[in-house]
Amino acid sequence: MKISVIGTGYVGLVTGTCLAETGNEVVCVDINEQKVQKMRNGEVPIYEPHLDVLFDRNIKAGRLIFSTSLKEGLEHGEVIFLALPTPEDEDGSADLSYVLGVAENIGNIITDYKVIVGKSTVPVGTAEKVREAISKNAKSTFDVVSNPEFLREGFAVDDFLKPERIVIGSSSQRATELMEKLYKPFVRSGNPIIVMDEKSAELTKYAANAFLATKITFMNEIANYCEKVGADVDKVRIGMGTDSRIGKRFLFPGIGYGGSCFPKDVKALHKSGKDSQYEFKILDSVIKVNDNQKIILFPKIKNYFNNDLQNKTFAIWGLAFKPETDDIREAPSLYLIDKLLTEGANIKAFDPEAMDNVARKYQGKIQFSKTMYDVLENADALIICTEWSIFRTPDFNKIKYSLRKNVIFDGRNLYDISDVEKEDISYFSIGRKDIK
Ligand code: NAD
Repeated sequence: MKISVIGTGYVGLVTGTCLAETGNEVVCVDINEQKVQKMRNGEVPIYEPHLDVLFDRNIKAGRLIFSTSLKEGLEHGEVIFLALPTPEDEDGSADLSYVLGVAENIGNIITDYKVIVGKSTVPVGTAEKVREAISKNAKSTFDVVSNPEFLREGFAVDDFLKPERIVIGSSSQRATELMEKLYKPFVRSGNPIIVMDEKSAELTKYAANAFLATKITFMNEIANYCEKVGADVDKVRIGMGTDSRIGKRFLFPGIGYGGSCFPKDVKALHKSGKDSQYEFKILDSVIKVNDNQKIILFPKIKNYFNNDLQNKTFAIWGLAFKPETDDIREAPSLYLIDKLLTEGANIKAFDPEAMDNVARKYQGKIQFSKTMYDVLENADALIICTEWSIFRTPDFNKIKYSLRKNVIFDGRNLYDISDVEKEDISYFSIGRKDIK
């Protein structure tokens, strides 16, 4: 099939590349000329495991090409994916200007039948707005489908190639059949393609993300309470998670959720509720608890240094909002760094993939190191913000040798308390006893 993807970011590029992998001819369009030039030169503009191999293979096979021209994209594809940003607006709602802006232009350009597929995460009713925006100028027939994306950064290729489910919101038989044909190769193992109305599809995505953010946040509250009463959240987590109704995943406490999706999606659903005179009380709490959780290590750090962080140097392991990505959008590390900088501290950091993005944001205010051990030199303490695998079994002797004070503040509970107790190290984590 001939496919076009408008917006070639984390979702658009993975979608375009994986659809090319199953033999479709794909044109990926992006407004960012630099990005398009990079991709034309064979460079993957983001870090996403395994994407480079597929990207390379499909470019060489001539199935994946890049353009800055919306017109070229619309002329090429019968199915047009919109993988455009829907960032948080000032009032917490999803900013639909990218999606609706492109939709208006689509009407001006298309001359034959197209299926316009919304991949962006959007509030209920957006498919209808897209339909109206296209209709204003459209000279040909078209259908609008809502097809929310559930991929996780860091596992995006795997998630796209082997999705647990595909959700298609559609009220057109013709469009539904095209979508089912397109996705058939990805569900050969028997996972479902679930067809529903557009509104339910739109809400499915928000509900899934809000539920996961709530699950994390609930566990963070349990962890905070564990600290008050001397319980160990690791034991509680395992005790709870073995109940199959609860499940073991997403129960790990830490310094809060971040990223380009959970924070904005929880707020957007909360705001959509308000707009429909429905108050999501749970989500209101989730937002507040998570805001505080992102800086939950700060009082522990301040207390350890007797309220004086002036000219103290902190080494940070992990900047990305989660492992296996270079994405730093809403990363908890940044909130903690901002607090420490405000108190006059110096920051040195190491992250396997996200340092360039953070360097661009902080413009010389942070020093970066090439390795996880170099960054410890002359630092007063180590702070762990992202649970990259390479941090899981460190050489504690090297840590002790390099740091001025033998202290670790671990925002991701990477080490067993019993293991750290054998080292001569002070250790502060989340929801477990402090080792002083
Ligand atoms: P992104 O910011 O990485 O990518 C968006 C791309 O769209 C950028 O490359 C940008 O240059 C391009 N763009 C902006 N305006 C354009 C225009 N007028 N024409 C062409 N291109 C344009 O965003 P993303 O992370 O891929 O997210 C896209 C959507 O998918 C969002 O709604 C997001 O909530 C949703 N989503 C994201 C993820 C994720 O893990 N990142 C997962 C599921 C759903």
